Amino acid sequence: MIHNSTLFLSSDENTIFDTSYRYKIPLPSIKKENKKGTIITKLENLDKFCRGIEMDENVFCKCIASKLSCSSGVNSPENYCFWKGDYPIQEILDSICFLIRSFLLCVQCDKPEIIISKKKQTLHQRCKACGHISPLQNNSKNDKIYQIFLKHVQTKI
Ligand SMILES: [Zn+2]
Repeated sequence: MIHNSTLFLSSDENTIFDTSYRYKIPLPSIKKENKKGTIITKLENLDKFCRGIEMDENVFCKCIASKLSCSSGVNSPENYCFWKGDYPIQEILDSICFLIRSFLLCVQCDKPEIIISKKKQTLHQRCKACGHISPLQNNSKNDKIYQIFLKHVQTKI
């Protein structure tokens, strides 16, 4: 959820009225750049943003790329990732919100405190805040992002 340049890690709209809500981070800086005639859409300060959502930088970049159906890359020395193509900033933010809502929030308490693991090609979430453990239910296994997580997540928590 986005409000006043802040990304609230929550699916509850009322969170924006909660001034003491802990799980919020500044919106990432997203810019366009022309690389030898090809427009790319860059997300800057990648390490800080990924620490904020507790996600691996490469997995994050790939998940958004699969949502946009484009190729992507991570430039670690310069601390940015990019998606090939000229995408509206809102579309990138919508994809990020989708990713957070679908994969990074606890289904029980809605806090972004979950650890994802896999057992027999099924993703499970364990919440560090409330202890809830369950399979990731809201996603079909045909989902491209689900498949990316399956490929990159460790077997054991
Ligand atoms: Zn929880």
